[in-house]
Amino acid sequence: MKRKYLMTPGPSPVPAFVRESLSREIMHHRTDEFREILQHAHEGLKYVFCTKNPVLIFSSSGTGAMEATVSSLFSPGDKVISIAGGKFGQRWTELAKAYQLDVVEMTIDWGNAPDPERLKSLLEQHAAVKGVLTTLCETSTGTVYDVEALAKTARKAGALIVVDAVSGLGQDKLPTDEWGVDAVVSGSQKGLMLPPGLAFVSVNANAQTAMKNAQCSRYYLNLQKALASYAKSDTPFTPAVSLVVGLKEALRTMQEERMESRWVRFETMAAATRKAAQALGLKLFSSRPSASLTAIRAPEGIKSTDIVRTLRKNYGISIAAGQGDVKEKIFRIAHMGWINEQDLMMTFSLLEKVLRSLGHTFENGVSLACLQEVLYGK
Ligand SMILES: *Cc1c(COP(=O)(O)O)cnc(C)c1O
Repeated sequence: MKRKYLMTPGPSPVPAFVRESLSREIMHHRTDEFREILQHAHEGLKYVFCTKNPVLIFSSSGTGAMEATVSSLFSPGDKVISIAGGKFGQRWTELAKAYQLDVVEMTIDWGNAPDPERLKSLLEQHAAVKGVLTTLCETSTGTVYDVEALAKTARKAGALIVVDAVSGLGQDKLPTDEWGVDAVVSGSQKGLMLPPGLAFVSVNANAQTAMKNAQCSRYYLNLQKALASYAKSDTPFTPAVSLVVGLKEALRTMQEERMESRWVRFETMAAATRKAAQALGLKLFSSRPSASLTAIRAPEGIKSTDIVRTLRKNYGISIAAGQGDVKEKIFRIAHMGWINEQDLMMTFSLLEKVLRSLGHTFENGVSLACLQEVLYGK
């Protein structure tokens, strides 16, 4: 059995201290013992989401929380603007359409970030927009959006601003309350160092008001039900008990490190990754690269899927190819959650070997010298 290394933008590696907590005996969820763990998790989530408002927990993948948000905040026929610059922005569009919202699509070229001025003119053009659906880190392109400016623009027009931060939370800066974001969605398997299976939504006063009037059909994925239980340190249905136990442990390390330090540390890892890739003669895909992952163009004549496959097959290191139209054109290296500086050293050292075997030429070790300098100083 070979050791495996996850350098993918979800799932990402789970530290031993979290895995150990996941293997504890299952407790009943309607007990004081579990309620206390849930309360800790609620407090930890508030800290990590940078909000004083409730952060609701769902037993689902990230998309479940996106679905709960769309169906719980809006009514059929409500006008929303969906900002789509990649796979996950498109998911907002598809979800909103599935719930019969009136969707104005603000599509942008993959690899670019939305221009807040364009959002402003769309909001002027369309009367009574109820919400703007957008993304913190668009994982399919490795792009971080200017959520602060987008939120300000949406708020001025009286629209709710809803942000998918499934991959970005923990690395890309998101002071939810300070920037006035009404609902932030995240998931367990990216920046939060947990296996897949939990999803989260923060809801401020505006979102809570919208929930009272929203008419979309919904049952299980339901922010209102979750909020009513939250007030009693409870969940409406059986939660993924073990994952909540693990969540408490994972959040504690994030609280110890502090979000401000994490934002700086991951941005340094991202900067080092970009520099290392460029030193290998490779081009970056995003014009506004995220702190959570780096999307890199494969060299001319080499398919990114071949790079990904060889790295996994020969060395057990998983990185991700592209999605959609750029599937074979780009590869993506994550620096999120538990992934650290040493993981990047190892990944680039063997990425160099793989690229060379596929015919790409560069000075041996050049990417490692870059990483050493940026990550550990001269
Ligand atoms: C991973 C991810 C999701 C959710 O995907 P699931 O597979 O449902 O967990 C949503 N948005 C972004 C930006 C993501 O990276």
